[in-house]
Amino acid sequence: MFNKRTKIKELLATEPAGREVTVMGWVRTFRNNQFIALNDGSTNQNLQVVATLGLLNDETLKRITTGASLKVIGEVVPSSGKGQKIELKAASIEILGDSDPEKYPLQPKKHSLEFLREIAHLRFRTNTFGAVFRIRHSLAFAIHKFFNDKGFVYLHTPIITASDAEGAGEMFRVTTLPFDNPPRNDDGSINFKEDFFGKSTNLTVSGQLEGELAAMAFSDIYTFGPTFRAENSNTTRHLAEFWMIEPEMAFYDIEDNMNLAEEFIKYIIQYAMDNNRDDLEFLAQRLADEEKQLPQDKRSELGLIEKLEFVLNNAFERITYTEAIDILLNSSHYKKKKFQYEVKWGIDLQSEHERYLVEKHFKKPVIVTGYPAAIKAFYMRMNDDGKTVAAMDILAPGIGEIVGGSQREERYDKLTERMEAMHVPVEEMQWYLDTRRFGSVPHAGFGLGFERMVQFVTGMTNIRDVIPFARTPKNCEF
Ligand code: ATP
Ligand code: MN
Repeated sequence: MFNKRTKIKELLATEPAGREVTVMGWVRTFRNNQFIALNDGSTNQNLQVVATLGLLNDETLKRITTGASLKVIGEVVPSSGKGQKIELKAASIEILGDSDPEKYPLQPKKHSLEFLREIAHLRFRTNTFGAVFRIRHSLAFAIHKFFNDKGFVYLHTPIITASDAEGAGEMFRVTTLPFDNPPRNDDGSINFKEDFFGKSTNLTVSGQLEGELAAMAFSDIYTFGPTFRAENSNTTRHLAEFWMIEPEMAFYDIEDNMNLAEEFIKYIIQYAMDNNRDDLEFLAQRLADEEKQLPQDKRSELGLIEKLEFVLNNAFERITYTEAIDILLNSSHYKKKKFQYEVKWGIDLQSEHERYLVEKHFKKPVIVTGYPAAIKAFYMRMNDDGKTVAAMDILAPGIGEIVGGSQREERYDKLTERMEAMHVPVEEMQWYLDTRRFGSVPHAGFGLGFERMVQFVTGMTNIRDVIPFARTPKNCEF
């Protein structure tokens, strides 16, 4: 019985006037004891259901409230009301689930994003979050399609890991040892030999190292999975649990890597533009309304759709780290002492610097390469200058860093030299070093933070609003 349901999106797209259909969904509004706006999540558009006078008794009419779920059978007819071409003339309405209007937190009015975060279990039922999560789905699908069409192998890298080479200090420990009385060594330290895995383990911060192993067999792989960082950064761009896409390609240098990353980002944006137009237009309007409350100089120059079109139609700017520092030093912003953090060669670019480069100077996505070796991970390939590495970060307007990547150090001696210098436990990483011992090849890869990408496409300013249930410091609800 339930499988004869027609989705509202399909109905509105095909407008099959005269057909009898069954729809199911949740009531958004009910006007004049007659007009029900019904939504089933397939689209932001509601279906207007008309309950002709006399069809329902008073008892049932009272139960048609915002949030209630209905099954409606009726005939599709042309609509005389404005805003829709068709409506459903109900022949029968069955209430599947009541929703007490006194208690239901979502009223048919505008709620703040902060309030909706507190009722994240219900916010999917709003237009804004309907749009955001349909777009999130589309982007995820487009990511798989992009790589699949190019012959990449989707690799599931482990979530629990014993290697802490990448995330010193930022990892969540995984353990079954008792907190009150853990087994200890003679020197008082915890004896992890007694722990579940017989060693100290953590949640992964990246699947890259394992990805490299597989790239040395399949040539091209990608991961797309959850990653965890116990960094205490309560920002609008950091989550403790987020999803990352990490392609890793053999026979790629830094140039190939940049080209792939740019093509990839444009592809998935284009996919959303082609497949989620209604939702994007809704969010664009939402953003425009929100920005009306800001002072002129804080408003975006481009609307959401124009911004995405602009990114699609223009090459990303490519500069070196050294050039970036020069631009910052020569900016009037710097001369007026408007940067909070110091600017000089060797610093890790702060978010204010990244945003100046993309939002004020270039006004488009920027790929920065050739970072000082000292501020980047051990596996990045040393450039001939002996000071910089073949790193590449992609910075996006409004977000800052969206991609971090590099050409990897494929030369065994250079790699071990850097590992030792950076106190990476070489002994524990022999499995990784085997890739450089047996058939090593030039290779490269990058990590795209999925939620930051969703933020960029949807225009949502807080990363907590683009993941269903955000995990952030002191917050793990639902
Ligand atoms: P940031 O400087 O912004 O903290 P990072 O240098 O720590 O970023 P990488 O280690 O290069 O980031 O991770 C790759 C990508 O993962 C980043 O470009 C970003 O898109 C995303 N990312 C990193 N940390 C987070 C986080 N805490 N929450 C959400 N996305 C993140
Ligand atoms: Mn970080």
